[in-house]
Amino acid sequence: MHSLSVAEMASALTEGQCTSEELAQVFLDRIARFDTQLNSLITVDPERALAQARAADARRRQGGCGPLTGIPIIHKDIFLTQDQRTTCGSRMLERFVPHFDATIVARCAAAGLVTLGKSNMDEFAMGSSNETSYFGPVRNPWDTARVPGGSSGGSAAAVAARLAPLATGSDTGGSIRQPAALCGITGLKPTYGRVSRWGMIAFASSLDQAGVFGRDARDCALLLELMAGFDPRDSTSVDRPVPAYSASLEQSLAGLRVGVPAEFFGAGLEPAVGAAVETALAALKDLGATVHPVHLPNLGLSVPTYYTLAPAEASSNLSRFDGVRYGHRCEQPANLEDLYKRSRAEGFGTEVKRRIMIGTYVLSAGYYDAYYLKAQRCRRLITEDFRRAFETVDVLVGPTAPEVAFRLGEKTDDPVKMYLSDINTIAVNLAGLPGLSLPAGFVDGLPVGMQLIGPHFSEGRLLNVAHQFQRETDWHRQLPPAFA
Ligand code: GLN
Repeated sequence: MHSLSVAEMASALTEGQCTSEELAQVFLDRIARFDTQLNSLITVDPERALAQARAADARRRQGGCGPLTGIPIIHKDIFLTQDQRTTCGSRMLERFVPHFDATIVARCAAAGLVTLGKSNMDEFAMGSSNETSYFGPVRNPWDTARVPGGSSGGSAAAVAARLAPLATGSDTGGSIRQPAALCGITGLKPTYGRVSRWGMIAFASSLDQAGVFGRDARDCALLLELMAGFDPRDSTSVDRPVPAYSASLEQSLAGLRVGVPAEFFGAGLEPAVGAAVETALAALKDLGATVHPVHLPNLGLSVPTYYTLAPAEASSNLSRFDGVRYGHRCEQPANLEDLYKRSRAEGFGTEVKRRIMIGTYVLSAGYYDAYYLKAQRCRRLITEDFRRAFETVDVLVGPTAPEVAFRLGEKTDDPVKMYLSDINTIAVNLAGLPGLSLPAGFVDGLPVGMQLIGPHFSEGRLLNVAHQFQRETDWHRQLPPAFA
């Protein structure tokens, strides 16, 4: 049961081959059996999940159900869940229990999805390996000595090990696509504004976007179409109808113009990863696509641009965690200043502190023009590169990450090396574009991810391309042997 796609599980439920309660129990049993090895979940609540599953069964009996009613899901612990602890991977929020649901959590619940628990993540979504979590690192199910990627590493590892068929994630610079790639699953970061950010703990508000993880493109399409859409409570959410993504998956790829940016294949790319993506490109050609070389000349600016802007926004967003309004409070403060200082010193981990320091620095008088303002100009150049590329092609394709999953501890002492893990994903956030990562092969038993990037609001096209590719390949059907 656990290896089925969501679409297949939904038909098993419809045909009465199993109940939602049984389905939830299958995954809860797998979590109990396997998650001690992976640490992909921070909170699991079997009682809550089973009660939701029974409600879904009742709804199904009354005929009032949608396509995902009774399907289990895991939410990244960055999304607020009413009366359920939400930590954002930080000691700061270790005991924080929200009194409302994030919009996407509420939409999933309204559609009858069953929340199994909350997934582990890099602290405040800052990281590319899940090693910055206060709750310990997550391990990659393909090799537990390796990282699952980050920051949504818990969600990706859980779906890859089939501890849940679906999960939510957030992506500020690659946090859905890079872990999807390293764990061998499908992950989609939608266009900025496509999915509500209400109730998603803010990291860098001009880049943050909520999205989805699933085994394949169809599963992601089914989840995205019920999560996306205008939310009056998020002023950046876009009021534009949500297409039926799952209805356009079968469109032919004949005539599709695929652009291959040379910059994605430069120095730093592991040759075997490049070769896997070349093979995948040949498969797209067989499906009728034409392949064209393109250039994104300013792509090299994306990592320094991001690591100026994201910390600037984070330093402002994280000022709310002061030991008074939210979060950890130190013991017996001597006075107000001591309370602020010690609460923040104790509540935040090293990487979060590093970002707050960088952000405060680049925003300070005297440095603002030299760093922050210049980074905003670079952001515009990068956005223009994409706009120009999309004048001649429909989608861009390249490796999601320059290498396969690396070992735990391999990059923790060198933040710049760690930041380069996102070299292919970050520009997409700077330009607010949608990006999808899907499995495209293996190198030494570790999954390789291929990234598809499209113009704003082209999620339907990306899912369509991914689905057509997945009809011809079976990379997405592989299960990590130790968790089969
Ligand atoms: N790895 C990047 C960072 O550490 C991106 C994280 C994310 O997308 N949340 O900022």
